[in-house]
Amino acid sequence: MGVAGRIGLAVAKKWIAGVNIDDAISEARRLNLSNENVIINYLGEDISEKSKVTKTVRTYSRLIKLMKSGKISGSIAVKPTQIGLSISFGIFLQNYVSIVKLARHAGIFVWLDMEDYPYVDDTIKAYLLTLKRNKNTGICIQSKLRRSMHDIRSIAKKGGTIRLVKGAYADHGQKTYNSKDDVDRNYLECMRLLFLHARSFMIATHDDKMLGVASSYLKRSNKKVMFGMLKGIRPSLALKMAKDGKSLYIYLPFGENWLEYSVRRLKEKRNASLILRSVFQR
Ligand SMILES: Cc1cc2nc3c(=O)[nH]c(=O)nc-3n(C[C@H](O)[C@H](O)[C@H](O)COP(=O)(O)OP(=O)(O)OC[C@H]3O[C@@H](n4cnc5c(N)ncnc54)[C@H](O)[C@@H]3O)c2cc1C
Repeated sequence: MGVAGRIGLAVAKKWIAGVNIDDAISEARRLNLSNENVIINYLGEDISEKSKVTKTVRTYSRLIKLMKSGKISGSIAVKPTQIGLSISFGIFLQNYVSIVKLARHAGIFVWLDMEDYPYVDDTIKAYLLTLKRNKNTGICIQSKLRRSMHDIRSIAKKGGTIRLVKGAYADHGQKTYNSKDDVDRNYLECMRLLFLHARSFMIATHDDKMLGVASSYLKRSNKKVMFGMLKGIRPSLALKMAKDGKSLYIYLPFGENWLEYSVRRLKEKRNASLILRSVFQR
């Protein structure tokens, strides 16, 4: 790696754990010391080469073993298109099931990330098929999508675990809410539904308004609620929530694709402002 690459990596380390699996484990250990759990993700998406998919699945297997042996408090997150969905549904399902089974034996929970709109149906289908025999897995649902209330109802009915986010992907006309106000309003509606119908779920946001509403629901509820934030975004708030006894998870990406990830995230207009605001935060 050249000098520019090394400087870039040093900056990117605010939002990622580093390049290697050991970086992820040591950052996870550091966060665990302050009561912050982790959701570790190996960076990669839209992989259409079978050999790269196989390498990704192997990396997750290693990660699961290292998390177990290192007694890391946390879970992992996989993206459907990094484990085969860009090739075929069958390959994706097979890899997802094998990761979930391995994780189940290690006592580790597996989150299925939600990607762009065209992948939503297949992602939910694979999740519900896998959930039948494996309870150690959850799925991300985006309030940006008009269908999400319906998806939450059907997943909650089947005992699934949902991580609610606003959504980081593109607008898709009538299928998505395309203004911040609408996405926020739907987030609150989806959250209300989760408190009513879901057993266990995660509120993943850095938005004070969403967090405030979640806290007020929590006062009147005995639900098991987790909170999720991205590494490097509002870290002092995350630390405070963990100290206050909230079940707090930091989404912690690592991997050699850090540059591609950082550039892609910066190109998404919602994330760009989020990331730029976080640069000088401690
Ligand atoms: C744990 C986790 C997992 C995720 N997984 C997925 C996934 O699988 N699929 C997907 O599409 N997306 C995922 N996301 C990303 C998500 O969709 C959003 O793009 C991202 O969380 C930003 O949305 P927000 O809810 O924080 O609110 P935003 O609307 O971006 O921000 C709202 C408000 O939050 C506050 N805020 C935000 N950033 C800062 C800051 N740096 N400093 C101070 N205040 C700030 C401000 O009040 C701001 O107005 C995930 C996010 C998290 C936290």
